[in-house]
Amino acid sequence: MYSAEFEYYRATSVAEAVELMRAHPGAKLLAGGHSLLPQMKLRVSQPAALVDISRAAELSGITLDGEMLRIGATTTHAALAASPVVSEHCAILSEAASLIGDQQVRNRGTIGGSLAHADPAADLPTVIVALGGTLTAASAAGPRDVLAGECFVDLFTTALTEGEVLTRVNVPAYGAGTGGAYAKHRHPASGYAVVGVAAIVTVSDGRCTRARLVVGGAQPNPVSASASEAALEGQPLNEATIAAAAAQVAQALPNPLSDHYASADYRRQLATVLARRALVTAAERAAER
Ligand SMILES: Cc1cc2nc3c(=O)[nH]c(=O)nc-3n(C[C@H](O)[C@H](O)[C@H](O)COP(=O)(O)OP(=O)(O)OC[C@H]3O[C@@H](n4cnc5c(N)ncnc54)[C@H](O)[C@@H]3O)c2cc1C
Repeated sequence: MYSAEFEYYRATSVAEAVELMRAHPGAKLLAGGHSLLPQMKLRVSQPAALVDISRAAELSGITLDGEMLRIGATTTHAALAASPVVSEHCAILSEAASLIGDQQVRNRGTIGGSLAHADPAADLPTVIVALGGTLTAASAAGPRDVLAGECFVDLFTTALTEGEVLTRVNVPAYGAGTGGAYAKHRHPASGYAVVGVAAIVTVSDGRCTRARLVVGGAQPNPVSASASEAALEGQPLNEATIAAAAAQVAQALPNPLSDHYASADYRRQLATVLARRALVTAAERAAER
């Protein structure tokens, strides 16, 4: 299939991207094109104009700013996976990025495109929510920060408004005693997460002081397994406490997605198993820091 006709503009800066989006209502931003172009070829999406941000240098790159990692929106999954700064200060992010699709997909796909697209089967939304990250967006009205936990409102729907350009993703660097792990069950064809679970724990004096457990792929948006998190806090992290917490993950999934590959019950079961695996690995990594 060929896409419908569209105008093409290339932005070389955030300011230019914002201005082009303002001047062309209904335009779409083009990052790596890995989700947008297939949608256009299928005519699910027919934007009158594309604003290509893939060569705006200020939108790409990773910096450590005090205790925060700041990641430009067009930073590719491959760059995240290979970054020594990310593996040193927020290893769950490089782990998740390295599990996306295949090398070609990781070379083109971007963190901003993944978050803005909000595919329920994508890996990075789950991890960024678990990290308590924020998304910085720019528009003609100025910049604003959106909490990742409030950004993913439904299937393929975020709290970003039309014309807003996601410029940066901000996540806290791990502190002492913190470890994280991302465990996923890959769809055999695409590599997308049928279910993916992000676990981040902080341990002090042999007890868990903070636990974050977020499940993606099972519901329309990433969900926090709050009962499991509460069950771990104040406890030593061992086989028994982790198994008990993982057993409560299903409570967070009242209405799982269901399709020809994985039923709702199967997704619930996957979430429980992957939560246990992710927590065990996160606890081991926390003990090493
Ligand atoms: C074969 C294949 C396998 C894949 N496997 C996986 C996988 O295993 N796990 C996974 O998580 N993902 C997977 N993906 C998705 C891929 O990694 C990309 O993250 C995703 O397609 C987004 O693509 P993109 O960055 O090229 O954005 P685009 O396709 O360019 O854009 C996607 C959407 O986001 C909007 N957008 C882009 N950038 C911004 C921005 N800065 N601000 C606001 N809106 C923006 C666009 O307008 C568009 O609506 C796969 C993709 C393919 C094609």
